[in-house]
Parts: sequence; structure tokens; C-alpha cells
Amino acid sequence: MRWNLKSSSFSIVLALLGGLGLVFLLAFQASSNYRVAFDLARSDNAHNAIKLANEFSGMIREVDLSLGDLAEYPNIAADDADRVVQRFQTLQRRLPQIDNLARINASGVLTAQLQNAPDASLEQDYFALLEQAAQSAIIHDSSASHKANLLIAHRLPSSGELDGLLVARLDQRLLTQKLNAAARNSGQHIFVIDKNLRILAQYPSGGTLPNLSTPIQHKIKNNTQQELISDETAELLLSFQPITNSPFFVVTSNSTEFYLAEWKTSIVYYLLAGFLMLILTTLMAYYFWRSQRLTRNLRAKELKLSASEARFRQMIETTPVGLVLARMPDFYITYINQHAAKMFGMPQAAALSKRAHELYYDRVDFIHHSNDALAGQSVNNAECILKHRDGNPFWANVSMSATKAAEGTTLVIGLNDITQRKKLEDELKRRATTDSLSGLANRAYFMELAKQEIVRAKRYQHPACVLMLDIDFFKKVNDRYGHQTGDRVIKTMADLCRSSLRDNDLLARIGGEEFTAFLPETPLAEAFEVAERLRKNIEQHRLELDDGGFIQFTTSIGLSALHRDDPNVEAPLKRADEALYVSKHNGRNQTSCYEQLKM
Ligand code: GH3
Ligand code: MG
Ligand code: MG
Repeated sequence: MRWNLKSSSFSIVLALLGGLGLVFLLAFQASSNYRVAFDLARSDNAHNAIKLANEFSGMIREVDLSLGDLAEYPNIAADDADRVVQRFQTLQRRLPQIDNLARINASGVLTAQLQNAPDASLEQDYFALLEQAAQSAIIHDSSASHKANLLIAHRLPSSGELDGLLVARLDQRLLTQKLNAAARNSGQHIFVIDKNLRILAQYPSGGTLPNLSTPIQHKIKNNTQQELISDETAELLLSFQPITNSPFFVVTSNSTEFYLAEWKTSIVYYLLAGFLMLILTTLMAYYFWRSQRLTRNLRAKELKLSASEARFRQMIETTPVGLVLARMPDFYITYINQHAAKMFGMPQAAALSKRAHELYYDRVDFIHHSNDALAGQSVNNAECILKHRDGNPFWANVSMSATKAAEGTTLVIGLNDITQRKKLEDELKRRATTDSLSGLANRAYFMELAKQEIVRAKRYQHPACVLMLDIDFFKKVNDRYGHQTGDRVIKTMADLCRSSLRDNDLLARIGGEEFTAFLPETPLAEAFEVAERLRKNIEQHRLELDDGGFIQFTTSIGLSALHRDDPNVEAPLKRADEALYVSKHNGRNQTSCYEQLKM
């Protein structure tokens, strides 16, 4: 899959979202754990309060019922103290929650009691209160010590008047033991209190009642069962449960410090995990961002590179120079540009199945060029003949070099079609060397060619002769027929010379109506015959005119052989010219041989 910027950005966002999601998940988990711990403490607290309240209520009810039974006992009000105490003892054995029992007569005087210690709780005030009670009453002490005592009193039966009371006191130590047993942890406080916040029993002993300020009292009064209050040091979870048939409440309190202790430990791990998660997320996002940046840079470079490659390719494709790449060592063409393909008259694809030497007309040229290039000597603009697809040759300038790379050596061949230039050069050369009217070589070219012929003839000691020809009375032709017809006569003369001489004889027009010929490999006698045959051909030729008439003309010829000591071509020409003069002088239309004249 191609890695793109969009998917990379998406990954960064995904990593961040994923990380944040995990952190949120941890936070959620921590918060729900907090709720669980809180709810657990709350229900535990409430459950404890309910359980204790029920237990205490049962204990009170039990004492109340037993006391009722005892009050019904015959003569209980009148019996002597010993007998009553005996009954008290029997009852206490059954009800361990009672720590004292007493009988009080109608005047409020204590007439019998289980324990001999004077009981401050049985004061006159209470008695007055008890006097008002209907059948039985649960009362409590209201002494200044803020310490409550739970007393259960029953009227002794009478004919309407109060005969006295039986009073039982609940054993506070037993209550305290119950609280101790019910306490879950040292952070928990349990109180049995009345509406005026006086304490009947408490856990731990000696503990102070939490600061249950006025609103809390209000809540107790309104029978609110649970409350969360803030102390100076910690938050307290409170549960209130009234003890049925009594003015007391069980208050259980649990401090956050304890019930959240475990949660607080776990929160440290959550924080640690969250922190690690954040670091991990940040690192992931960073690496995504970094890879995105690298990808972006890479892409930019790629684009730049492909743009420059495209430019380069276009440049190569459109350059007016043919370019061919051929791999080594089999010379197969691996690339050819449009220009080169056009040069060879083939589609670019077709060239790829060819080898570089197939582009050359002469394979030897290719061998020279490729050997030079591979030897490190680049070939520069070498003129050579290449081969068109149809097999026709054409001229080209070839440059060739070899480049070595890891994948192998490549021949780089640059081509320029110079056919047109060659044609132009040929034309210029032709113009420079040819007489335009007759189409024969001009004087300068003739001298150059003749010079080479003389060198050869001398080297091999072969005979050669020179002819000088001049049309007789040419002026008259011009005068009578006009200059144009004169030109036609000159052309006719050139044609007659050409057709009468051999191909390897050099022929030139060297003046107005003067011609010269160099006859290589020709002895004098044979040359004389050639000259005479030519002269006769001219003499017999009839040049047809446009008006139906014709012209006949003659020519005088001077002939001389090449002498061994001739320093240059001018020497035999001069002699031939002299012989020509003799021919003119002797009546024209004849051939004179210089060597014969001298003899
Ligand atoms: P001769 O027999 O003694 O040679 O007599 P001629 O009339 O040929 O005399 P000459 O050779 O002195 O004259 C050459 C004449 O050829 C002179 C010139 O007017 C004429 N001529 C030279 N060049 C050209 C040319 O290119 N075209 C034409 N039509 N006439 C030319
Ligand atoms: Mg002349
Ligand atoms: Mg003449």
C-alpha cells in the first residue's frame, strides 16, 4: 500500500484519539471504582447501623416483656426485698443485657435492687417521669455528664393508684461490646445516641462524637438515614438508624480516609498507567508526524526528480540530434529518440529489436567507432554512411562514447544527418570545378586533375598526350547567329568531345571556344588518331537551328605528347598550343602534332 499524507495524518489523529480514549477509559475506571468503594462503604455502614439497631431493639423489647411479666407476679410490690432480689437474679441470668434491676415504691423510695451501689439514675426526677407512664416506659438519664443510661420501667399493678415501679437498666458494657464486634475498621465510629446527642454507647471508647452540627440534628429529627458530611480532616459517611421503641439512634460513621484507602492506592497505578499512556501516545504521534514529514520530503524530491526527468526526456526526445543508446556487449539498442528513429525511417519501438551496427552501412565503420569509444577515445562528429530502413545509404555525423555504470556499459551514439550538407558541398564543388555552360571541368580543375595524372604517368612511365582545340571562325557564328546560338555551338562542341573521348580522358573548357584534353595511357600516334577522329566528327556534325536551318563548324587541334622532363602540366599544354597555332596558320580544321613539327 502506498503511504500517503492523508492516511498519515489520519494515523496521527487516530493515535492521539486512541491515547486520549485510553486515558479517558482509565479515568472512567478510576471514577467507577470510586463509586463502587463509596457505595460499598455506604451500604456497609447502613447495614451495620440497621443490624445494630435491630439487635438493640430486640434486647430492649426482650427486657420490656420480661419486666412486664415480673410486674404481673403476685405480691411483687409487697414482698420483702430478699425475695424480690432473688427474682431479680433469676431474671438477670436469663437476660445478660441487664446490669441492674430495682423496685421503687409509690413514694419513690428504692425498696429492692440487684446491685447495692446507689444508682444515680434512679433519682426523683425520673420517678416523677415514670409516674406519668402508662404501663411501661423506656427512659434515659438526663444528667449533666452527657452520658445516657437506658432504663426500662414498668408500673406495679394496683387498684388505680401507683404501687411502685420495676426498673431495669441496660448494661452499657454489653452494648459497647456489641459495637466493638460490629465495627469494621478502626476508621469506623459507632454511636448509640439520643436526639439530644447524648451518648449511650460508643466505639471506639473515649472517641468523640463527630461534629454533628445543627443541620445534622435536623436530619436526625427528620429521620434521614444517610448523610455525607465533611469533617476538618476527612469526609465522613454517616448512617442513622432509630432503635425501635426507644429514643435512641445507632449512628455509624466511616471516614473516606479508610474506606477509600484501597481506591487511593489503585488511583496511583491508574495515574501511572495514564501517564505512561500519554507518553506512549505522544511518542506514537511524534513518530507518525516524523514519518509523515519524511514522506512529504521524499514525495517532494520524487516530484522534483520526475519533473526533471520528464524535462530531460522531453529535451532528448525533441532535440534535433539523433540519440541512440546501445548496451554492451551485445550492442542491442535500448533507447532511440524520435529524431534518430525518423532518420532511419522506422518507429522507435522497431529500433529496439535491432543492434547498433545494423544502423551502419559499412559494419567496418561501426567496429572502428565502437572500438575507439570503448577504449575511452570518444568519436566526435565522424562523417560516415548509415543505412536507412529501406537499405539506402545516407551521410551522417556520428559521435560515440561509452558510459560505464553498475548495470553495465552503454554506448551513447549521437547522430546528425548531413545528407543535405553533403549534397550542397558536392554542388559547390561541382560549381567550383565545372564550367556551367558546357558542363565540362573548368581550367583550374583540369589543371589539378592533370597534375595528378602527370605524376602517375611519370611514376609508371606511361605515355600521355595533351590536345588543344579551338573552334574556327567562331566570331562569325556569333556575328551571324547571335550569342545564344554561339553558346549552343560551344555546348555541342563539348558534347562531341565527350562522346568521342574515353571516360578516363580529362576534358575541359579553358576559354571562350577553346578546349583541352589530357589523354592518359595514350602514345602520340594513337592520340593523333583520336584527335583526327574528333575533328572529323565535329566537321561532320550539323547543329539544327530553330528556324529549320543548321550550322556546321570546324575546329583546329594542336597535339603534344608528355615529355619525361616536363616539370608540370603547363609545359605540354604550351606545346599543344603552339601546334594549334600551326593548325590555324595552315588553314584550320586540321590537327598539328608538336613533336612532328619539330622533327
Ligand atoms: P579563329 O579561327 O582564328 O579562332 O577565329 P575566331 O573567330 O574563332 O577568333 P577568336 O578565337 O579570336 O575569337 C573567339 C571569339 O569567341 C571571341 C568571343 O566573342 C567569342 N566568345 C568567347 N567566349 C564566348 C562564349 O562564351 N559564348 C559565345 N557565344 N561566344 C564567345
Ligand atoms: Mg579562340
Ligand atoms: Mg577560334
